[in-house]
Amino acid sequence: MHVLIAGAGLGGLTLAQNLRKRGISYEIFERDEHKDARFQGWAIALHTITDELVASMPSDMPDLRQATDHMSPLKIPTQICLYPAESIVRVGWEDCPETPFIRAERYRLRNHLATNIPIQWGKRVQRIEHDDQGVAVYFEDGTTAKGDILVGADGVKSVVRQELLQKSHDEVLKIIPLAAIVGELKLSGEAFKRQLQLSHGSYSLIDSEKGYLTFCSLHDVTPDGKSARYYWIMSRSDPTIVDPDHWLHKATQQEKLEHAREVMSNREPKFREIFDLTPVEGIKKETHIWRDLELSSLPAGRVVLMGDAAHVMTPFRGE
Ligand SMILES: Cc1cc2nc3c(=O)[nH]c(=O)nc-3n(C[C@H](O)[C@H](O)[C@H](O)COP(=O)(O)OP(=O)(O)OC[C@H]3O[C@@H](n4cnc5c(N)ncnc54)[C@H](O)[C@@H]3O)c2cc1C
Repeated sequence: MHVLIAGAGLGGLTLAQNLRKRGISYEIFERDEHKDARFQGWAIALHTITDELVASMPSDMPDLRQATDHMSPLKIPTQICLYPAESIVRVGWEDCPETPFIRAERYRLRNHLATNIPIQWGKRVQRIEHDDQGVAVYFEDGTTAKGDILVGADGVKSVVRQELLQKSHDEVLKIIPLAAIVGELKLSGEAFKRQLQLSHGSYSLIDSEKGYLTFCSLHDVTPDGKSARYYWIMSRSDPTIVDPDHWLHKATQQEKLEHAREVMSNREPKFREIFDLTPVEGIKKETHIWRDLELSSLPAGRVVLMGDAAHVMTPFRGE
């Protein structure tokens, strides 16, 4: 049995580790030229699956928490909190022995999952062929790989899915009616400490009257523990986001930042601070349109899909 994996993201690499542990022959192909070719995102919460994930990995893996925890080198328990506008209490979760959870910095997590995995870089899947005898994958660089099973772990815009279903992305991907503004910033000293007082990690500001949910989170901490990168995503339900004339598609970074500050203007200063300290250049220029996908079934055969290729996990669903 020889398994071909298309895509060395979180899903493909997790599968590769599982196959490595079981001594099953595999190859894994990634379109990017190297591991630093693309921004890997901010942080991802690992909670109920953590024990199973670790148990499914080979024994030579470094410790998952030590390798990926976005709070490192600070030794404080990670928290996820909610601050509803109409309430003075905060609710949430804290990492503890009874309910352990890790917020993993995504770049570190991908590197961790790549431990002892011989990723074949610069291999963009272009086309596949499959029949009773086996499966062949054709890459953009003109090379081919052959195997018994192909796993499409090539993300939301999966070429493997497109080839398998013979359907375009637009035919299967649904638009999530969400308008979002994204900001990034670096915080040091007292401002960083004040964010940690709001939450050791991440918190959501909910304003049901204005219809906004804003997720603010630590990305990672500098090695000296004195500064940190943060990001926030301010979103509201808005089916008109697909309209190319939607104001967010045309807004400048300054206009988006001013809008975010205006939305937060009725909140206490401690909640406004992260927006006040965000520099204009920290606002994402492009307005992302989130996509969703749920396939009810796949054709039986030698090609399967996993991860976002099969069922997109939006950040909000993930948390
Ligand atoms: C901002 C953000 C925050 C998130 N937070 C969370 C969270 O907290 N919790 C959670 O559960 N989920 C979260 N998610 C969702 C989670 O990140 C995804 O579900 C997960 O990354 C999917 O893994 P994957 O391996 O299927 O796809 P990906 O991670 O997208 O990996 C796909 C890989 O395939 C490669 N590839 C693509 N096309 C080809 C091709 N043609 N040939 C070869 N290789 C190819 C890509 O370069 C990539 O390396 C978040 C997503 C985002 C965007």
